[in-house]
Amino acid sequence: MHITFSANILANPIEYLHSVSTLRGDMLRKELQIFSFSDLLNYFPLRHVDKTKIDKIGHLQYNAEYAQVCGRITDIETLGEKRSKRLVAHLQDETGEIELVWFQGINWIQKALHEGGQYIVFGKLSFFMSKPQLSHPEVEVYSAEKAGGKSFLEPIYPTTEKLKVKGLNGRAIGKLTWQLLQLIKETDVPENLPDTLIKQYRFISRYDAMRFIHFPPTEKHYDHAVRRIKFEELFFAQLRMSLIKSSRHRFSKGQVFDKVGEYFNDFYNNHLPFVLTNAQKRVLKEIRKDTGSGKQMNRLLQGDVGSGKTIVALMMMLLAADNSFQSVMMAPTEILAQQHYNSITALLNDMPVCVKLLTGSSKTKERREIHAMCEDGSLNILIGTHAVIEDKVQFKNLGFAVIDEQHKFGVAQRAQLWKKNRIPPHVLVMTATPIPRTLALTAYGDLDYSVMDELPPGRQPINTVHRFENKRPQVMDFVKEQLANQRQAYIIYPLIEESSKLDYENLMKGYEEVKSFFPEPNYWISMVHGKMTAAQKENNMQRFVKGEANIMVSTTVIEVGVNVPNATVMVIESAEKFGLSQLHQLRGRVGRGAEKSFCILLTGPKISNDARERLKIMTATNDGFKIAEKDLELRGPGDIEGTRQSGVLNFKLANIVNDKIMLEAAKEAVEHLLETDPDMIMAENLPVKNYLKMEKGKTAWSKIS
Ligand code: ADP
Ligand code: MG
Repeated sequence: MHITFSANILANPIEYLHSVSTLRGDMLRKELQIFSFSDLLNYFPLRHVDKTKIDKIGHLQYNAEYAQVCGRITDIETLGEKRSKRLVAHLQDETGEIELVWFQGINWIQKALHEGGQYIVFGKLSFFMSKPQLSHPEVEVYSAEKAGGKSFLEPIYPTTEKLKVKGLNGRAIGKLTWQLLQLIKETDVPENLPDTLIKQYRFISRYDAMRFIHFPPTEKHYDHAVRRIKFEELFFAQLRMSLIKSSRHRFSKGQVFDKVGEYFNDFYNNHLPFVLTNAQKRVLKEIRKDTGSGKQMNRLLQGDVGSGKTIVALMMMLLAADNSFQSVMMAPTEILAQQHYNSITALLNDMPVCVKLLTGSSKTKERREIHAMCEDGSLNILIGTHAVIEDKVQFKNLGFAVIDEQHKFGVAQRAQLWKKNRIPPHVLVMTATPIPRTLALTAYGDLDYSVMDELPPGRQPINTVHRFENKRPQVMDFVKEQLANQRQAYIIYPLIEESSKLDYENLMKGYEEVKSFFPEPNYWISMVHGKMTAAQKENNMQRFVKGEANIMVSTTVIEVGVNVPNATVMVIESAEKFGLSQLHQLRGRVGRGAEKSFCILLTGPKISNDARERLKIMTATNDGFKIAEKDLELRGPGDIEGTRQSGVLNFKLANIVNDKIMLEAAKEAVEHLLETDPDMIMAENLPVKNYLKMEKGKTAWSKIS
């Protein structure tokens, strides 16, 4: 067959590699998303094994994870029927015998193995009845050259069962990369960092990094490759974010709020129920500067629970109204939307501001009226769930959009908002789960951000304690004391999945138990959970808000934003089942008034080390920023809500927790680059520019901007 190679060798489809058949090509695409030479080059090994090192079977240790042994197959047989069918072989060396087992791809392996043949076998080691066993090991025919000859560490790649069956196991993929590397010249992997940076950090060249990440002559070479590639990942991630941000600053026109008028002044002078904190004032100033600049604002407002973000949002919406713009405020749940609506209408009192609530459960007639008011401009502020960003909702002149508790909203929804006016509205994203600085740098680098790091005066820190379940009666007695002082209490149950029957039954059992501790008519209990209709939830919520119920039994639907300042105690049942940021969010429902508040974390007698660590942090601090850092450390960036779908943190090697120092270094380098040469026209920065151009469209980045 005659093949025309592309001028850019890395752009060639994977089948152009000798020994990749059409079938294998299909499998590589489907299973590993390897389409081209470049994809294969960027598919990094999981680990390396020292091929020169062969373990003696008789000396294998219980605690070893992997083993590589060399010996003769003494027998092969298939055992079991249907689903338990397996292929079992025994391999012997001069020190002992090991069992090899396969459950899949039996026919293929049976053909490849021969009794009496000599093989090198590598796999995950386990012991069964104190006999060593390798299940689904990788097998190679023994040859003297293979057993001792190669000087480099052999790469083992992540692979899938389907590929293994077709002979593409973790080792075989290395044969492909080896072949590929023979075809690639230094000029095919051009440098992508400025020379000064390479010198400053003593990086190896990009070409060398690519070779050594796959086939390092020594471990030191491998470490150099990893260091260089990690830096690249962090550098380009931040550079792209910064470019999105600065192009928005430079090119995207924004609505101009240049007037302070009657709405704002009337509210500030006659309706504001308290003095603003310094943090609130500072943030308002930052936002006002943005919204007066003629550029579109995209700002992230981080404030710990209870720091008073709502009032900041409201005042900005009033300012928008002063400048003849409409505003929208979006919340992640109906309860929260309803609550924002209630507290905002209460704050505005008799002011002539038109505010409406639109959620999934708004009636058709009301919905139509609201749509009409949005279109003719008579509505000033629309509050709601994601119903407010549906295409049907069209505004006469939308100027300001607030997204509350943003971790439940994706980047896509944010983009949907921008399209709601010819000139996009300013967007203020508010989050009550503080985002660690390292994460904010990378995942939210395209947003400006403000931090509200001060609580309104008079708040006392919440006392948090951990108690085991056998102390529940004493805990409930404590709750009774609080209720006797006319306070209210939350009792929270875990509902990992809203639909889970088991969780639901637990909640009901818990409810009955709470009732037995707090019998009517001395106590009134309200309950809210995900299976209720919005009307039921709202009704029960209002009973608690109005003080008609002393106790709120609830699942985590109460998690975000709910504000009942008279509630001073929260009991969290099965606290070991909650994540850190969730616990912090929940706890934030108390301590919202001037009274001393308490949070009691109840757990079963047996808890994992991780859970113990979480409880320790919760009882030690009320600081949401500290908790967020710890959460990131414990769970890793991949699990932090809102980051996964953005694709921003999909690094191959870098990890923002473990590579914090490098992240900072990369950030500094990006800042320096953009300050000194924002358009990257200096010769020294051309490699960066060319690389960005080449990579454009290959990744999910385009979706973010
Ligand atoms: P969050 O930032 O968690 O959304 P909220 O906006 O719900 O916080 O505010 C929490 C509580 O603090 C509310 O009852 C609010 O009225 C009150 N609050 C906000 N700002 C101040 C302030 N400057 N002084 C006193 N109380 C305030
Ligand atoms: Mg809030």
